[in-house]
Amino acid sequence: MDCIFCKIANGEIPSATLYEDEDFRIILDVNPASKGHALILPKKHASNLYELPDESASKVLILAKNMAEKMTEALNCDGLNLVQNNGEIAGQTVFHFHMHLIPRYEGDRVKVGWKPGKLSDKTKEELLSALKIGG
Ligand code: 5GP
Ligand code: ZN
Repeated sequence: MDCIFCKIANGEIPSATLYEDEDFRIILDVNPASKGHALILPKKHASNLYELPDESASKVLILAKNMAEKMTEALNCDGLNLVQNNGEIAGQTVFHFHMHLIPRYEGDRVKVGWKPGKLSDKTKEELLSALKIGG
């Protein structure tokens, strides 16, 4: 399979690596939204969140947390967005799971947002009967 993030994650293509273990690599994004924008890549290919094994899913947020702490301390950022896109419609352009860490600075022009809608009672009821999980 010709997947650029497989090659980067596994070291076949060199990258600016901030962290590596047997399952993950964290790299600097080549087209950063802000100073320090980084990506967490699993070494084993999963196209998106739906394909990510539970074990990797549970590790990825701990890694994100550790990296976020380091960024905040070292870059003195004022906030940070975690972004993870699934599917073209959601903005995914590389179809190998990755989580963005985007440090935020007062006055930056980074846009991660949406126009708030309004949750109607009808839709709320529909969603409550369609979406409950667990229990
Ligand atoms: P997506 O839009 O799929 O959520 O994010 C893909 C990200 O990967 C983008 O922010 C893009 O700049 C980054 N990217 C794409 N190709 C490369 C690459 O070859 N090296 C690095 N370091 N980042 C890449
Ligand atoms: Zn891949």
